[in-house]
Amino acid sequence: PYSHGLAELDASLLQTTLTTSPRPVPALGSPEMASQRTCTDHMIQATWNSETGWSAPTLTPYGPLSLMPTASCLHYATECFEGMKLYRGFDGKLRLFRPDLNCKRMLVSTNRISLPSFPPDELLKLIAKLCATDGPRWLPKDRPGSFLYIRPTMIATDPALGVQRPTEAMLYVILTCFAPMDDVPGGMKLLASQDDMVRAWPGGFGYAKVGANYGPSLVAQGEARRRGYHQILWLFGDECYVTEAGASNFFVVWRTKEEGKLQLVTASLDERIVLDGVTRRSVLELARTRLADASAAAEEEGLEPLEVVERRYTMFEVEEAAREGRLVEAFGAGTAWFVAPVGKIHFRGKDIEVPQSEGDGGRYTKAVKRWLKGIMWGEEGSEAHEWGYVV
Ligand code: PMP
Repeated sequence: PYSHGLAELDASLLQTTLTTSPRPVPALGSPEMASQRTCTDHMIQATWNSETGWSAPTLTPYGPLSLMPTASCLHYATECFEGMKLYRGFDGKLRLFRPDLNCKRMLVSTNRISLPSFPPDELLKLIAKLCATDGPRWLPKDRPGSFLYIRPTMIATDPALGVQRPTEAMLYVILTCFAPMDDVPGGMKLLASQDDMVRAWPGGFGYAKVGANYGPSLVAQGEARRRGYHQILWLFGDECYVTEAGASNFFVVWRTKEEGKLQLVTASLDERIVLDGVTRRSVLELARTRLADASAAAEEEGLEPLEVVERRYTMFEVEEAAREGRLVEAFGAGTAWFVAPVGKIHFRGKDIEVPQSEGDGGRYTKAVKRWLKGIMWGEEGSEAHEWGYVV
């Protein structure tokens, strides 16, 4: 119990009821495998109320939730979630990738929308338990390189319409099948957002993974698809600051105007309008160590070292770099679509072409992707990397 005498979320109290009718695991490449409708056999749940705290968590057969029509989350967007993956390694192991960061970010999100706190480590133990239960059958050993998508979710369940801080909540974790992460030939095409569609703003909640960030973005996303683009490149303000691409962080590699210095640039987190992506952080950390001046890794790869920069930058700078031949690469980075090369950005009536030095994508994009893959799937002898969490 924590200081108020309320019960804390405690994974050691987990009560398990296994299914007696496990469902068939979809064949690789089947529509069921590619659709995020297909969930595995079990789910984790725990409920909370403001008088007693957290209930003992349960692991039970996957199935529907029962909610009152008045439940707070159905009216006031008192909902947040995480997105991570369980990877079947080439060395046969099942791994999560830096799951501690997702669990901490979930707490940042719950705090932003008045949902209850919890120890992130306890959430991680529950996620690992679900993965250890369903992972072995749903990610068979003869499917190295496959993965499941993990969706931890918290909702306020107060059965009353009053607009107030939640007094009841539910945490649940499910695992879904997910389409393979194939690169788009020629790179992703992005449509830069217009002034009438803003994803996030200072003082808002762009830094949190709350449902309220996503529903309203779907009009712009639908428009992008209709016009033949894959995702929206979210800009902010009259200056057209570049923030994120769809549900991914966004990176460019360019040469600076004055000194011709090679840089990897992404939006900083300072304004709190950009999600602190686990992939983003990992790309930055790998680039800072492996692509720094005099780095052995850069030399081995035959890559010119570069400077890593987190700052505000504008679409006008990207446009100018492209016009002057200084734009080298661009890519999106996130759990869902991983490291995705960008080939084109439509901005104010014009298409900006992003060079593809290595066919589909550039050399830096490919190097970063290969390094991350090695860690996630235990390739290239890197299975002992501290970012890999073996389940
Ligand atoms: N930005 C947004 C808005 C997202 O929804 C996501 C996906 N979580 C990301 C960036 C990438 O974050 P991560 O690398 O942690 O998946």
